[in-house]
Amino acid sequence: MSARVLNGTLVAEVIRQGVAARVGELAARGIRPGLAVVLVGENPASRVYVGSKVRTCEALGLYSEKIELPVETTTEQLLGLVVELNERDDIDGILIQLPLPPQIETRRILEAIDPAKDVDGFHAVNVGRLVRGEEGLVPCTPAGVIEMLDHYGIDIAGANAVVIGRSDIVGKPMALLLLHRHATVTICHSRTRDLAAEVSRADIVIAAIGRAAMVTGEFIREGAVVVDVGMNRATTAEEVRRIFGDAEQAARLEEVARRGYTLVGDVEPRTVGEKAAWLSPVPGGVGPLTIAMLMKNTLRAAEARR
Ligand code: NDP
Repeated sequence: MSARVLNGTLVAEVIRQGVAARVGELAARGIRPGLAVVLVGENPASRVYVGSKVRTCEALGLYSEKIELPVETTTEQLLGLVVELNERDDIDGILIQLPLPPQIETRRILEAIDPAKDVDGFHAVNVGRLVRGEEGLVPCTPAGVIEMLDHYGIDIAGANAVVIGRSDIVGKPMALLLLHRHATVTICHSRTRDLAAEVSRADIVIAAIGRAAMVTGEFIREGAVVVDVGMNRATTAEEVRRIFGDAEQAARLEEVARRGYTLVGDVEPRTVGEKAAWLSPVPGGVGPLTIAMLMKNTLRAAEARR
């Protein structure tokens, strides 16, 4: 069997179109949802993410404001900015790009954001609402995974779902979202005794580990749905040959030669693709959904607040 593709690029486009249509309706009432994106310091990856968030806002008709602060910014200074953004009526969403420089107390900053503007869904109030299954802002990546499963008509209710990873950003909210949709959920992590045995019982596997191609076909039950959240880099030809099947190897090797790496998920596509019924690719799977869901959260925040 060869797995069918969970195409995140396509689902993200559907989400973006929905957001753009609704933004158009709000514009007729004189409302333009606004997102503030705050970047502290010079992290090149963060800069790329912030750039694409701002560009997506522009493409969909949302207002966006990029605020750049120097690397030596203090916690107090950043708190001051958050308070200002909380008070502004034209700003519906506040996104602090992580990671912050080490001198800044990240938790204090995230807790200072007005929960109504917390489009990342990291504030304790939104986490609490998620635990209780109440309306609130939900972290973008796991929310995007649910949209993808729904788009492809994958049954969640009653399914055995195994989430690998227990981070506050992906694993934990993912498990809660699946639980609220009536899956039987298992959360695995680095101390799980027999990961392969746990994963092999899953109808739905969500891999959010951060280790290139760690989940192989041996873990996977025939016909499972596998969502690969991981974003890792493979940098050697040997790695690429191990991870990718013949069909994909040449293009991946060319990429490594050209830019020094190729993007790899937590799942080994060659072996998992032979067992799974559905598999999300990397790139083109969960990645594009995250920014699309950020747009949706900003729209929701605007609708709820104004
Ligand atoms: P974290 O590093 O915060 O969490 C990783 C989790 O994986 C931890 O819970 C850890 O367990 C677990 N883990 C690590 N090693 C193993 C192992 N050998 N066996 C079982 N579990 C293990 O990462 P994130 O949750 O932030 O991200 C996970 C991946 O998803 C990364 O590759 C990241 O780049 C990617 N990502 C992709 C996004 C997208 O838009 N596509 C968005 C966000 C993340 P423990 O808790 O015990 O340490």
